[in-house]
Amino acid sequence: MHAVTSSDTSSSGTPAAGVPTITVPPSLLPRDGRFGSGPSKVRDDQVAAIAGVGRTVLGTSHRQLPVRSLVARTRAGMTDLFSLPDGYEVVLGNGGSTTFWDVATTCLVRERAQHLVLGAFSEKFAKATAAAPFLAAPDVRRSEPFSAPTAEAEPGVDAYAYPHNETSTGVVLPVVRPSGLAEDDDALVLVDATSAAGGVPVDASRCDAYYFAPQKSFGSDGGLWLALLSPAAIARAEELQPGRWVPGSLDLLAALAESQREQTVNTPAVATLLMLAEQVEWMLDRGGLEWAAARSAESASRLYEWAEASQYARPAVRDRTLRSPVVGTIDLDPSVDAAAVRAVLRANGVVDVEPYRGLGGNQLRVGMFPAVDPHDVSALTACVDHVVSALS
Ligand SMILES: *Cc1c(COP(=O)(O)O)cnc(C)c1O
Repeated sequence: MHAVTSSDTSSSGTPAAGVPTITVPPSLLPRDGRFGSGPSKVRDDQVAAIAGVGRTVLGTSHRQLPVRSLVARTRAGMTDLFSLPDGYEVVLGNGGSTTFWDVATTCLVRERAQHLVLGAFSEKFAKATAAAPFLAAPDVRRSEPFSAPTAEAEPGVDAYAYPHNETSTGVVLPVVRPSGLAEDDDALVLVDATSAAGGVPVDASRCDAYYFAPQKSFGSDGGLWLALLSPAAIARAEELQPGRWVPGSLDLLAALAESQREQTVNTPAVATLLMLAEQVEWMLDRGGLEWAAARSAESASRLYEWAEASQYARPAVRDRTLRSPVVGTIDLDPSVDAAAVRAVLRANGVVDVEPYRGLGGNQLRVGMFPAVDPHDVSALTACVDHVVSALS
């Protein structure tokens, strides 16, 4: 979709009062102006699949072969994309990553979790285990936003949780077992890969649950969770579930059983599955995770290099090794009104570069998932330069 048309602009609403009328020259505009960090850009071919093959599969039973084969394509695609070791299972269910936090709290944490909290999303999972009456208070390790704490083995902790990419701040962490964890320790490593999965390299054998939702790097819609589960994670659910009351919608073993039959426990959004299957295969056809991650890395280097060279912009994450290849946060000098820049961009069809609610201040936050063309990231930076100079 070429998002930048006059009708799109007017349908996105008139600019807020006080937003100057600045028209960005069409030659500077990206071909596609969607830079959200989730929901994120959906490619034209995915939308075309809805109108194409979707005409026979949308509105049909999720218990019959056509929809089950979308689940099968997704599960086989994920197995390939992540080169899953033997015994790992691709499990899916309704509710998005937020629901998976509750699934993990209920079915995977035995007694005490450790959480790295480095932004809004990692905080939410820490709150979920802290609130569970059947668990001990979690071991929470915090850092200031735009930096990261490190996971360390702690006696009594049986599940270590951290995000692969903290989407609220644009910080990426390595997926590794916590330092000091003994070989024979049966603790699980639970990685929130909601925004990283599909856009950042990973060795899935280093964690026990690599979970995500399709509206970020997979450019589909929200409302679904997927988890790549190790044999140890499945064994943990088998150990805990019989002795705990588990609400049916959070039942991980039921989700596993249905997933193995290429179904979900209850009705899924069929269009989401179709766009997801299309996106996984789009990545696989072009070289898999290595290709997809390289495309995001190329976008990110364009964004960060522009910011580092700029007089008025700089990456919000100071430590280069922590800068995310899929979500870039850019601080603007206080002399530049980032809210005005974002409003002018939006009026020109370049949308969703807002910082995360309550975080980030005078900032732009740019989603650079594999669907985004790196040239469009360069175009975005040219648009920002144009708007900033027109505003001053
Ligand atoms: C978007 C996001 C979530 C929330 O995903 P939902 O599917 O909306 O529940 C959780 N964690 C991270 C890291 C995210 O980026």
